[in-house]
Amino acid sequence: MEKPRYERILLKISGEALAGEPGRGLDFDFIRQVCSVVKECAQMGVQVGLVVGGGNFWRGLKDGGDKMERSRADQMGMLATVINSLALQDVLEQLGQPARVLTSVEMGPVAERYSRPLADRYLKEGQVVIFGGGTGNPYFSTDTAAVLRAVEIGADMILLAKNIDGVYSADPKKDPTAVKYDRISYDQVLAGHLQVMDLPATSLALENHIPVMIFALKDPRNILRVVTGERIGTIVEEEPKS
Ligand code: UDP
Repeated sequence: MEKPRYERILLKISGEALAGEPGRGLDFDFIRQVCSVVKECAQMGVQVGLVVGGGNFWRGLKDGGDKMERSRADQMGMLATVINSLALQDVLEQLGQPARVLTSVEMGPVAERYSRPLADRYLKEGQVVIFGGGTGNPYFSTDTAAVLRAVEIGADMILLAKNIDGVYSADPKKDPTAVKYDRISYDQVLAGHLQVMDLPATSLALENHIPVMIFALKDPRNILRVVTGERIGTIVEEEPKS
């Protein structure tokens, strides 16, 4: 078995990535593929924290927009992340991988309330910990929740699984001269207004010196490639100290 490069990771998956073709709902064949790879990582001894978005069901601003009060629309989005978290937990358990859902708000019988020591305990036990409900606050995204939880649990790396295989100098769909970066600093991301994560997530990662690897989830085995140190995607980190 290959040796993992990281001891503890935080994997962020967007809700849309779990959806079938129309971008809504849940594609269980794909979820099973992702969960199998997550299980492989756990079996290698990697402690895996997971944050999943909710965009396959509801995004506060996009879907609620002017039709609803914003905070309430965002609460619906946070609930959507819990739906996805429960689906991931279920499939992981079907595969024989113990998994816990810890939510940012109290949800009684649905899941346990998040606390850092509890997450730490489960991770050390080799259980996959799925952080549901985002940050618990409106006006934030699950990218920010991912960075927040990664920092809290002391993850070595954030794995940002996307529908694109890295960070480009421009939108590769619109600009044929766009080049993919292997490595980029936070300063370059901010200065170039490059689409990696939203601003609150980027500044939280920057302030806490945590590297982020952006790669394509289309092939879920990419998760394993990153974990074993293969250089795919783009790594966003601080400038090396001279
Ligand atoms: N959300 C929120 N606070 C958070 C995280 C998420 O209000 O801390 C809401 C927000 O409405 C967001 C929705 O949940 O649009 C779904 O999250 P996100 O858009 O990040 O999901 P993704 O695009 O990754 O599927």
